[in-house]
Amino acid sequence: MKKFPGTSGLVFNEDLLLNQGSKGVSGINIPANNLGSAHMGKTAKDYIDAKFLRNEKKSPLLLPEVSESTVVRHFTRLSSWNICVDTAFYPLGSCTMKYNPKINETIASLSNIKNLHPMLPADYIQPILKIIYDFNSLLCGLTGLDEFTFNPQAGAAGEFTGMKIIKKYFEVKNERRNIVLIPDSSHGTNPASSYIAGFTPVELKTFFAAQHSSSEELQNAHDSGYGHDSAYIVNKIKNNDVNIKNKSNGYIDINELKKYINKDVAAIMITNPNTFGLFEKNIREVAELIHKNGSLVYMDGANFNAFIGNCRVSDFGVDILHLNLHKTFSTPHGGGGPGSGPVGVKDFLKEFLPVPYISAKKQATNDVPCASNNEQVPNDEQDCYYELKNEREYSIGRISSFYGNFAVILRAYSYLLSLGRQNISKISELAVLNANYMKKRLKDTFLESDPFPEELCMHECVLNDNVFRAEGISTLDFAKSIIDYGFHPPTIYFPKNIHGAIMIEPTETESIKTMDSFIDAMKEIKKKGNKYASKSPKSTKTKRLNEVLANKNPVFK
Ligand SMILES: *Cc1c(COP(=O)(O)O)cnc(C)c1O
Repeated sequence: MKKFPGTSGLVFNEDLLLNQGSKGVSGINIPANNLGSAHMGKTAKDYIDAKFLRNEKKSPLLLPEVSESTVVRHFTRLSSWNICVDTAFYPLGSCTMKYNPKINETIASLSNIKNLHPMLPADYIQPILKIIYDFNSLLCGLTGLDEFTFNPQAGAAGEFTGMKIIKKYFEVKNERRNIVLIPDSSHGTNPASSYIAGFTPVELKTFFAAQHSSSEELQNAHDSGYGHDSAYIVNKIKNNDVNIKNKSNGYIDINELKKYINKDVAAIMITNPNTFGLFEKNIREVAELIHKNGSLVYMDGANFNAFIGNCRVSDFGVDILHLNLHKTFSTPHGGGGPGSGPVGVKDFLKEFLPVPYISAKKQATNDVPCASNNEQVPNDEQDCYYELKNEREYSIGRISSFYGNFAVILRAYSYLLSLGRQNISKISELAVLNANYMKKRLKDTFLESDPFPEELCMHECVLNDNVFRAEGISTLDFAKSIIDYGFHPPTIYFPKNIHGAIMIEPTETESIKTMDSFIDAMKEIKKKGNKYASKSPKSTKTKRLNEVLANKNPVFK
């Protein structure tokens, strides 16, 4: 008998918090006011126009009246209904759910940092500004780019920022370029971000599996609410654009690209590694062609985990890039946040970056700038004075309040410093090794499901559903079944052009034992077949949902 983590154990029932309160119960205990009414016998209510006051009878405030312990138990119990990185293997492709070392949390929750008011003047927050400034230097060293902004609060927000920068760049040059080329191997947010920034995204075909996605499949993926790109998918279905045959493999096809290059092209937006888990090996040639056309190369570097410390994006022609600190740089992210999607640029795009930004000079009183000190952090010798600045010649303006998600930047900074420069390259080396280990071990049973059997993958491997389907098991059935074994399901039905896709990203923090156990579970599910898989999960608090209904008609009470 193989041993799997499994999920049986003590699971508490838990009612809605609203149903748990009693009138008058409170979590805090404020002494009675014995000073009389606050202001000449009046209360706050007396100062508010009657038309803005809520009618207590008609629309009472539905706030639970509960004690502190009830609140704590409520959320702790609910959290036990879910799988999280701290309880189980979480191979959610494209999301880099690595284990996040607790030292980062400790540092981010130091009270003299977390209690700072965001409007404090620069004099009071010199160490904070220094951390951001030094972290910028570290990222410049790791990417070969010249400056980062940390204002965007998510990867997609970084993409949007990058696209706005490209837009402004061509406006200033007085060139009308409206098109952004996007390979079909890129992340779903890419076409969305370029479109919202005012461009027309044009799809470049790279790979379509022999049995490419049917409209039905795409509709399923759409209905299950995966990703941020449903409008894009729906559009593809409408245009009947899902059955294009193309012989090329999972990489950008240079000949195909050449057909699309013209003076309307502002940029190419490349997810690298792409959503097939492959490193774009033609990227240098692509960049040359794009640059020759006067266009720019944008790289979606959300999955920097695949090559951090081993190569720099500037060396293969990237002009502008975003990273996801909440993936590669170890910040717990789930349920939509918090995140940070810094955007890095080459020198010629610096003046377009958002404001505010941080500058450093030798001392508070003089104007000699501090040298930016790539890779030599902390940069303590120079005794710098740091300022938040708002002037930039062609800045696209503000794209978030204050400076962005400082606590995420801080965790990322702590993560890098606690590893040390000599260990940073091990992140990607182990991430790639782990993914290839899984790909290789799956070969004996799942070879028919590997769309790229000849290729080494990067940080994740992608399977189609050929093998499972032969047993009458859908990708969704598999994903639901693996939960009973005590694992979070991989990403499913994405990328869209791999039939019934299963995207496995083990990350570098997993042991060979854990990966073996997951692979054994996959094989066992296949063996147990449809009867078993179609009724899973069985051990969880909530069984299989009608996901469409749950999305369209959520019941909260
Ligand atoms: C996760 C991811 C994004 C989006 O990042 P968010 O922080 O969720 O907005 C974009 N591109 C790629 C390749 C990603 O993996």
